[in-house]
Amino acid sequence: MKGNVLKLSEKHALSVEALTIAFPHGDRLLVALHGVTLDVKRGELVCVVGASGSGKSTLLNVLAGLERPSNGRAHVHGRVALMFQEAALLPWLTAAGNVELALELRGVRNPARSRMAAELLHRVHLDGFEKRRPHELSGGMKQRVALARALAQDADVLLMDEPFAALDAITRDLLHEELERLWTQTGLTILFVTHNAREAVRLGDRVLVFTSRPGRVAHEVVVELPRPRSLDSPELAVIAGRITDRLKQEMRDGG
Ligand code: ADP
Ligand code: MG
Repeated sequence: MKGNVLKLSEKHALSVEALTIAFPHGDRLLVALHGVTLDVKRGELVCVVGASGSGKSTLLNVLAGLERPSNGRAHVHGRVALMFQEAALLPWLTAAGNVELALELRGVRNPARSRMAAELLHRVHLDGFEKRRPHELSGGMKQRVALARALAQDADVLLMDEPFAALDAITRDLLHEELERLWTQTGLTILFVTHNAREAVRLGDRVLVFTSRPGRVAHEVVVELPRPRSLDSPELAVIAGRITDRLKQEMRDGG
């Protein structure tokens, strides 16, 4: 099923080692990440939570091969798919067309391609919306299409950059359930970035708490609450509260 054959000895789906990245900023350098080290095991769902500007997107960009590290290494074993806050669908294509394009880029031909696109849209509960164009879909529906498109890439690792940040609370709740279900079914490895501690605890096997700029892993929380978790449960709120305190502390220390 997977496009990439992984060696059995490869326990980690992605690894980052002493990663530092600095950007030119006027006549100085802006250090976005400094000495980030982390591993994500195959099939794990790990959340990164950090304040705005702590380098979360930069980390994903490096993992996706869009930015080069100044120092250190970042490596993903297998194929990567990305998802952002904006669904970034092609406006002139239908929902099915957007998913089919990802399949086409993988070399899937018709009639298999149309059948697979319909099946993927079914998996994200978009039956009946296949022929709609992006402007005819709600924000949540657009992210469902983006999720189907990510699945169409048959990736091993899904990198998600605040994908649900722009959605209303109820829609976000439903998409958390959807994502968890797809993750359980596919065995995908997911690195999920958010600035929302509750969302991180809702989804993550582990939560990595980033420092403010420059970003690095300040703290790791292993979330042992049974799944599926409720965003509103008191147990979840306690863990998220501790993480939020930690983030506030980091922001005060960082200035
Ligand atoms: P986050 O996603 O946590 O909000 P980012 O990774 O977007 O943080 O950004 C971290 C810092 O790096 C910010 O100060 C941002 O302005 C800077 N930065 C990110 N990408 C670039 C770039 N390509 N060139 C210059 N500065 C950048
Ligand atoms: Mg960001």
